[in-house]
Amino acid sequence: MSEIRKHYFLDEHCIIASGRSKRPSAPKAYSDEQVSSKCAFCSGNEDQTPAATAVYKGGMILRDIDEGRIKDWDIRCIPNLYPALSPQTDNGMLSKKPTTKTLKGYGFHEVIIEGPDHGSRIQRFTDSEMLLLMKVYRDRVLHYRSHDGVEYVSLFKNWGKKAGASLEHTHSQLIAIPVMPSTMVKELVSIKQLDHCPYCRIAQNESGGERCIYENDHFIMLAPYFSRVPYEIWIVPKQHIESLSSFNDDMLSYLGDCIRRAVTLLDKAIPGLAYNYMFFQDQDPDYHLNVRIAPVTSIAAGFEMNTGIYINSTSPETAVKHLLENT
Ligand SMILES: [Zn+2]
Ligand SMILES: [Zn+2]
Repeated sequence: MSEIRKHYFLDEHCIIASGRSKRPSAPKAYSDEQVSSKCAFCSGNEDQTPAATAVYKGGMILRDIDEGRIKDWDIRCIPNLYPALSPQTDNGMLSKKPTTKTLKGYGFHEVIIEGPDHGSRIQRFTDSEMLLLMKVYRDRVLHYRSHDGVEYVSLFKNWGKKAGASLEHTHSQLIAIPVMPSTMVKELVSIKQLDHCPYCRIAQNESGGERCIYENDHFIMLAPYFSRVPYEIWIVPKQHIESLSSFNDDMLSYLGDCIRRAVTLLDKAIPGLAYNYMFFQDQDPDYHLNVRIAPVTSIAAGFEMNTGIYINSTSPETAVKHLLENT
């Protein structure tokens, strides 16, 4: 029996068609083949990439200078070789908020190489590796937020070919843009009309319930009632906090714990599953940061693009049972 579900606080719907609920099979991810001699992200191949904008090594933050390349790093941030946007405009750097309707493709596109080894996977990261990755996320978002003309910094990870990752070596990406995305504008407009924060309420209401996957001192991990895709996961801080820049190191380690746990559970339930995870955050103190993990089990087709309504064949309640059955 299908069910049309409304979003927690937006005027959006999804269809839970769990009659069709079979556990989705994973789209082809990557082979386990090691290709480190050809991979530009591997340690030792630093000269195959543009100079790094930030290199994290032994607790220090460095950057490549000119043709020199820092070796033996922990995490390396480089400009994307095929950037969606570029820091240069026809008139040089953009110095103030753009006013025209047609914007030059101003922005920054960075790749965060999460570790030096080709075969490394977030699931196997140690606590300190995970904490470093979270610190890098916080640093790089703050860094780009401080640039003139940047309105939003999108931080995300694509894992698996079906999720849009063109390279196998584990990495995240960050795109800083001169406009506020409509997804965020829509949420903020709705949130400001309410007398409470909907995410604080979600964290409270879903705690200990049938859609709760995991909780620690600072976060709840849940399969949202409004799940667009099978096995969608949200990670929501229990405390009202608008962006990563307000996180202390303690909170970052708890967040890292949640993200690692989420991708581990997904990979156990559906080995090789491709996914995207995305940070939703803003400088506006009314916003409440959240991280969403969206597995890729099918592609958005005509109905979804026509209506914005996603048909999800696995109810979040069933997904939680599958995710937790072997733990
Ligand atoms: Zn590699
Ligand atoms: Zn809140």
